[in-house]
Amino acid sequence: MQDDLARRSHAGLEYLKRVFGPKGLLSTREDCQRYAADQSGLAGEAPLAVVRPATTEEVARALEICNGHNLTVIPQGGRTGLSGGACGLARSVVLSSERLTGIIELDRQAMTLTAWAGTPLETVQMAARDAGFEYPVDIGSRGSATIGGTIATNAGGIRVLQHGMTRQNVLGLEAVLADGSVISRLGKTVKDNSGFDLKHVFIGSEGTLGVITRAVLQLRPSVPHSALALLALPDHAAALACLAAARTRFGTRVAAFEGMWPDYWDFVCHQTQLVTSPFKDRHGFYLLLEVVSGEDDAGEQMEAFFAERFEAGEVIDGILAKSVAEMQALWAIREAVGEVDADLGPHINFDIGLAPSDLGRFCDAVDGPLAALDCAGQTLKVGHVGDGNAHLLVAHEGSKEAEERIEETVYSLLSSWGGAVTAEHGIGRIKVRWLDKSRSKSEMQLMQTMKTALDPQNILSPGVLFAMT
Ligand SMILES: Cc1cc2nc3c(=O)[nH]c(=O)nc-3n(C[C@H](O)[C@H](O)[C@H](O)COP(=O)(O)OP(=O)(O)OC[C@H]3O[C@@H](n4cnc5c(N)ncnc54)[C@H](O)[C@@H]3O)c2cc1C
Repeated sequence: MQDDLARRSHAGLEYLKRVFGPKGLLSTREDCQRYAADQSGLAGEAPLAVVRPATTEEVARALEICNGHNLTVIPQGGRTGLSGGACGLARSVVLSSERLTGIIELDRQAMTLTAWAGTPLETVQMAARDAGFEYPVDIGSRGSATIGGTIATNAGGIRVLQHGMTRQNVLGLEAVLADGSVISRLGKTVKDNSGFDLKHVFIGSEGTLGVITRAVLQLRPSVPHSALALLALPDHAAALACLAAARTRFGTRVAAFEGMWPDYWDFVCHQTQLVTSPFKDRHGFYLLLEVVSGEDDAGEQMEAFFAERFEAGEVIDGILAKSVAEMQALWAIREAVGEVDADLGPHINFDIGLAPSDLGRFCDAVDGPLAALDCAGQTLKVGHVGDGNAHLLVAHEGSKEAEERIEETVYSLLSSWGGAVTAEHGIGRIKVRWLDKSRSKSEMQLMQTMKTALDPQNILSPGVLFAMT
């Protein structure tokens, strides 16, 4: 049986080599090693080969061959994923979207941009900006993350509050199923109730149901002016009150609402001095609030908001950025979470989702059980508080056992609060065993039924989202 499988994989690989040639398929040990891992920290394995199709037809051909020879396929974009979903497996073929790149069309009337899946997110953002629009999905990895990867993971980021997750910004999609059949719906129709909206099956499916090849993205009008303020607050409850007030005053012009708990603030500003605190005193909570405006009055509006919330006792201190450099300096405090790894040592980066109104109380509630674990160290909390999404970083002694005990503690509590074990990074390989803390048995069964229907031989990313069989 094993010999037969190995023989079929070998034959499949030789077939792929003949069809794709040296430009379309890489197979040296060094080449394959480069495609082994994503940014999750999981040690991926070098695949047998890397197929690099340049058209939808080539993706279909590659999948048809792999399916016919029972060769496992790992779809890959920019490999910036944080959940191990793009990590290679030793007996797999990586299907990279790096030659599926380019902007196909920008339609000013429909405000859409159609792009190949391997196009970097930043390229799309810049093309939209050059045409006076905005593609609002924005994440720190924008330079390398691809349109296909952001769709496959339903990426979130710092603009979700205003424009939603990636899902809310995709109008049309083309994907290739495991057997090579192409499901293409690249129209720009905003209203379409003719049956199931199948694009949503692929959005957030993490490469397990098909390979995304092209997408029609919904652009937004560019809003020229913005104001950014860093606010010091007594606690998270004050942040919630501020969010409600900001929504009342600015409506959908609240572009970012990012929170930092004192444990995170003290770590990046004082303990490690990765960034400099602009405040003299320490506070119970810190907030970055960005609002946009069509007129050149965003700064004044923000000052008026600050005065009103100060009066209400919700804001203790605040700084309004007066230049692009000052804006960048304020954002740097929030983004320093990407630089804590070396100083914090081994840690788990939780990506939890809750009702925004529950987030602060959950974060208070989890501190006690974590402090009671002898294997858990320092905890840092920072996140997209307007969306109820916190990144909870928990340092530990570095053992697998410590990781498991901490994860069990956090996810069990989260489950009792009805939260999500991942708000935006996805399940990938590293959170598969915790999926049942967020999803019911019947939901998981339905997901499995869909997987089996679309990929009966389980060639697409085995071990991602679903446990390895
Ligand atoms: C510094 C940094 C900041 C980040 N910030 C955020 C953030 O704020 N919000 C957020 O949500 N994420 C964030 N991420 C995570 C990551 O950037 C996103 O998950 C991103 O969407 C992954 O895109 P990618 O092209 O790199 O995909 P990859 O990492 O290559 O793949 C991710 C998953 O998508 C699948 N996939 C990739 N391309 C395709 C395709 N064409 N068809 C089908 N499946 C495919 C893969 O199999 C894998 O399961 C961050 C990562 C880094 C390193």
